[in-house]
Amino acid sequence: MKDSRPLPSTLRMVAWEVTRSCNLACAHCRASSVCGPYEGELDTAACLRLLDEIAAFSSPVIILTGGEPLLRPDIWEIAAYGDRKGLRMVMATNGTMVTEDIAKKMLAAGIRRVSVSIDGPDAESHDRFRRVTGAFAGALAGIEAMQRAGVAFEYHIYPDAPHAFFNDTRRSYRADAARDAWARCLMFFATHVGPVRT
Ligand code: SF4
Repeated sequence: MKDSRPLPSTLRMVAWEVTRSCNLACAHCRASSVCGPYEGELDTAACLRLLDEIAAFSSPVIILTGGEPLLRPDIWEIAAYGDRKGLRMVMATNGTMVTEDIAKKMLAAGIRRVSVSIDGPDAESHDRFRRVTGAFAGALAGIEAMQRAGVAFEYHIYPDAPHAFFNDTRRSYRADAARDAWARCLMFFATHVGPVRT
């Protein structure tokens, strides 16, 4: 007789692309994101059902990503619902839309941690990669807003970025915040991925 008991869940993490829409146009974007809307994306009710289904058999970390997840008007409802279900809700954002008000909404919705990508030590390198002028300043402003609000965050970097940085020894830093952000990026990279090759 067939054993109908559920298998033990090993699902630890779900990276959920809640939208393909984005306000940036990065060179490396797997989603080829532009500002939508895109047809066929899950509506709010379908998103909540998906969380129900996940929570029915597991309690993984749910990474709300995209696209830019903050472009979904229902993102707080989705995050809060997952949090109430006992899921650890985190978010990956490009940071440019994060104001102090948004950072407070993250906390209120139960977002436990936020990641922001920084792809260079200054606006020139980051914006070239992100293909939108002002993306670097926006990401730093978003990080500072989260710092003020007390949101836990971390930096992510595209693997080719450290090579570009170390190959350009003439580069001068333009802002303490940028230097600190980049230094933390390299620390994260060295700790979690491995030594950076120059
Ligand atoms: S921020 Fe993310 S989703 Fe937006 S274009 Fe860049 S890589 Fe794609």
